Amino acid sequence: MKIVCLDLEGVLVPEVWINVAERTGIPALRATTRDVPDYDVLMKQRLRILDEHGIKLKDIQAVIGGMRPLDGAREFLDALRARYPVVILSDTFEQFAQPLMRQLGWPTLFCHSLAIDGEGRVVDYRLRKRDHKRLSIEAFRALNFTTIAAGDSYNDTTMLGAAHQGFLFHAPENVVREFPQFPLAESFAGLLEAIAAVPEAVA
Ligand SMILES: [Mg+2]
Repeated sequence: MKIVCLDLEGVLVPEVWINVAERTGIPALRATTRDVPDYDVLMKQRLRILDEHGIKLKDIQAVIGGMRPLDGAREFLDALRARYPVVILSDTFEQFAQPLMRQLGWPTLFCHSLAIDGEGRVVDYRLRKRDHKRLSIEAFRALNFTTIAAGDSYNDTTMLGAAHQGFLFHAPENVVREFPQFPLAESFAGLLEAIAAVPEAVA
């Protein structure tokens, strides 16, 4: 039996931090895992910038509340979930995800959480587990699933590598160049077809 694991930002919804950067007018917040491969370095940089500019959780949530999934994402996800179990494996945070999950029909999401102080400032972040995308795939493999994963960025590549079949979806050129072993999918229809064509793994 197949299970499909999808990245969230850049695949189903826009990049949250890029939207926050645009809305707040702080260009330094535009950096994502596409630019800074080390997630800890990236998150520490983001928290420092938020603190310097006095941006609180509610400010970020207001931006996210105005975001919409990418065109066709809901339909793609519905079609996928009708055929396979689907788990979204994301490096976003529970406090950010809710408005987007509502618009996607409440799919299953594994992600991290933020530590918020009494004044609503983001003071730290708590990873559910380091490299949780890869570990989730390995756990699903141990349960005899044929694992299929799709993502767009550096933080997806260990997940893609651990899966029976990984796909890069809407990936930027630098990621495509560095990871030529993963086939590319450029549209939801194409990805749906490619997932259907993955053979069942022999246990
Ligand atoms: Mg992504």
